[in-house]
Formats: sequence, structure tokens, C-alpha cells
Amino acid sequence: MAPRPRRRRHKKSSSSVAPAAVTPPTAVTQPTTVSPVPLTRSKPGPSIDALGFYYLDNNVPGLSQLILQKLNMKSYEEYKLVIDGDKPVSGFGFRCLREMFQKMEDTFRFCAHCRALPSGLSDSKVLRHCKRCRNVYYCGPECQRSDWPAHRRVCQELCLVAVDRLMEWLLVTGDFVPPSGPWPWLAEAVQGWDTWFSMRRPQLDATLEAVLGSHAMTSLWASAGRPRPDPDVLQDSLKRLLTDVLSRPLTLGFGLRALGVDVKKAGGSTVHVVGASHVETFLTRPGDYDELGYMFPGHRGLRVIMVGVDVATGFSQSTPTSPVKAGRVQLSGHRGLYHHFWEEQVETGRTARPDLVVAFHPGFHASPDLMEAWLPTLLLLRDYEIPALITVYSQQELAASLQILVELDAHIIAYGANPFTSLKPEQVYSNPNKQPVYCSAYYITFLGSSCQLDKRQLEEKLDGED
Ligand SMILES: [Zn+2]
Ligand SMILES: [Zn+2]
Repeated sequence: MAPRPRRRRHKKSSSSVAPAAVTPPTAVTQPTTVSPVPLTRSKPGPSIDALGFYYLDNNVPGLSQLILQKLNMKSYEEYKLVIDGDKPVSGFGFRCLREMFQKMEDTFRFCAHCRALPSGLSDSKVLRHCKRCRNVYYCGPECQRSDWPAHRRVCQELCLVAVDRLMEWLLVTGDFVPPSGPWPWLAEAVQGWDTWFSMRRPQLDATLEAVLGSHAMTSLWASAGRPRPDPDVLQDSLKRLLTDVLSRPLTLGFGLRALGVDVKKAGGSTVHVVGASHVETFLTRPGDYDELGYMFPGHRGLRVIMVGVDVATGFSQSTPTSPVKAGRVQLSGHRGLYHHFWEEQVETGRTARPDLVVAFHPGFHASPDLMEAWLPTLLLLRDYEIPALITVYSQQELAASLQILVELDAHIIAYGANPFTSLKPEQVYSNPNKQPVYCSAYYITFLGSSCQLDKRQLEEKLDGED
């Protein structure tokens, strides 16, 4: 195939669809501030945003309305305002956290078998949860019995999901702060979670013990409406949550390593997170990305810029022009489409060219609309030969995404299981018997175009013949 001419300008997307705007359906509020935050930092399997929110109804008719009703909201747009931080949650009539907590749990109430919602039940019937996982509901014993062959495959994993969903609260309130500080081991020795946990063990044991004995933990389970699980169950949950928080920064580090980016070059290095949404920017505290810095002792400064139409209001909005200090991780956000950002900021020299571009769950394999929204970005990355990494939830998504990238002539460098995947299972919200997924479970790295590479190889060959 003939090499494509390099594209200097990129067609603006005619679609208003946000790339990778995928948000959990639940919104809760931080107790000490007015800005509401989503309960989970991770995106559940299917997309639940502009496109996906009403798509929930395909599996459970009326579910989108139920969510809005429970959260005292009139429309998806209103829900979006809260998620974006443009409207305080107190405006929706929640008196306290426990009430909102309960309401959120209520949004999970529909019969997992016949899909009946509470409103569709006769007076004599109520939805009861599966006693093992406490995470799916049934309108009666017949539905539960008929559903068991499908549910038994996921019941145990959903049990973890239900615990994690509550425990995540401790991250939101700041009662569980992951251990931090320079890595005591050689960074090269830490290649995945096993070695990371071994390295952090002494610190982590103390942290986990303190959280387990905390007042916050006691009051959490006192208001949860279910018995408090055993300490080892809670401890495992905290560890899963930890991997969920640190998966993103460490996956960026994995990308820098995998693509051989020199983080010791003068002026520092720049990473763009493309298609960033609330999930990347809401609960994110600047310190969360310190772990990325510790992964590269002696680095000359790491600039992480989140770019996406759904970057949360209140997240550092300006693209800093000041140079990043050696040893520091600088986090900022830019609300907008990536190819616009590129034209306005990168092409004009206002901000440095990225050394790595990462997209968490771009989901362009999932629908033509998402593909259309992502295409300008993918072509831009390919044609400017920017080292890039994307993550996906599952092996099927990996295969589908690879195929698309190959069709675009992107030069695939590597793909496989992400050593820094989140270990927290995510329930497929409207279809609970679907196998839970894990955020950033798999990755693909690519660089430039396979055609350009062929051309270069050809040139090298010709040079060699001279
Ligand atoms: Zn039923
Ligand atoms: Zn169950």
C-alpha cells in the first residue's frame, strides 16, 4: 500500500459526540464541599454518558428515568450539570449523605431476570436482593431460580463489587488515603502490582490497619444497611480500591517505560490524557499522580494534561506555560476536543509536544459515532508519530480496537495485559449478570504509521545499497 501523505491539518469532527465520555450513573457529594463527585472513579463497562445514559433502557426499560427520579433530577442534562460541578447537589433535596447513599443503592433495584422495576410490581411483591452477593434484585423466588444458572457465574464477583461500592466512600471522604512517598526499591524492580505491593507492604499494613479501626469505617457500616464484613474482606477491598486509584498514574508510567520515553531530558516530559472525563478529573487530587513521579527517580519534571470535553469544572483548567520543575508532577486540564487543543496549543507552540498520549477506554470500537469522534485524534497521533497508548476493558475490546488501528495503518508496537490494571471489578450496570470488567485491563501501544515505517525501512535499505 502506498504511504499516505502526511496530514498537516485535521478535519474537524462534525459530530458533537464526546470522545470516551463515559461516566458512572451515580453521583454523590463530598461531605465538606459543595462540589458533587461520582462515587466511583472508574467507568463501568458500557458507556453511561450522553450516548449511553438512555441506552440503559435497552436492557432495563425505564432505568434511566429511575436513576433521575431517585436523584431528584429531571433530565440527563440536569444530572450532567451536577456531574460537571455547575450545580450543587443540595439543590436536589438531599439532607444528608446517608439519604443519598440509600437513593443510589435504590437505583440498583430492578429484577435481574424479568427487568421489572419497583414501580412495575404488584402490591404484594417487593424486590429482594440475592443473599450471597447483595448486588442483584429479584421480584420473586421464580425469577431468582430461573436466573441462577446465569447469575451463579458472577455472584461471587458481584459480592466484591457491592463491598467496594461502599468502601469507595472512604476514598471520597478522604478517610482512606493511599500510602505515598518515594519508592524504597529500585524502580525497575517494580513491574506490576505484585512487586508494588511487596515494596509498599510495611507502609500499607499500617495504613490499612488504621483505616479498619477508624471511626469512619464504623459509621460507614452502621449506615450501610447491611452487616459489616470480616476484616480480611475489608482489607482486600481497600487494596482493590488502591489499585483503582493508582492504575491511571502507573499506567502512564508503564506507557513511558514501554515506549522508551526519556524522562531525564531537559525541560521535562509531557503526557496528554485524551478524552479525559469526570472520571479522570473529579476525584483526582494532585497527589494521586505523585506515584508516577516516584516511578522515575531523577526525572526532570512530568507534565500531565487531561484533555476532553468532559474535564470537570474546577479541575485546574489552564494549560500552564511555566516550566515544570525537576522531580515534580504537574497536573492540569483542558476542556475541549483534542484536535482543537492540538491546533490551538501545540501547533502554536504554546504548549510542548507530547512525549506520550494516553487514552483510557476510548471505546472507538463500540459505535460508529464514537469512531467518528475519535478519528481526527487517531489520525493526528498516527501522522505526527506521537507515541500512544490506549487501554480497554476486555480481550474482545482489545481485538476489536487492534483491528481498527491496523485498518488505520497505525504501527502497533505492543499489546496485552496491563500490569497496572485496576483490580476492582466493575459491574455492568444495566446488565448485572454480565461478567464484571476491570478498568484498563489491557493496553495497546502504537507509534506512527505502518506505511511510513515501510517507507523508512525502504529508504534505509536504499541508503545501505549506496
Ligand atoms: Zn422478576
Ligand atoms: Zn448473587
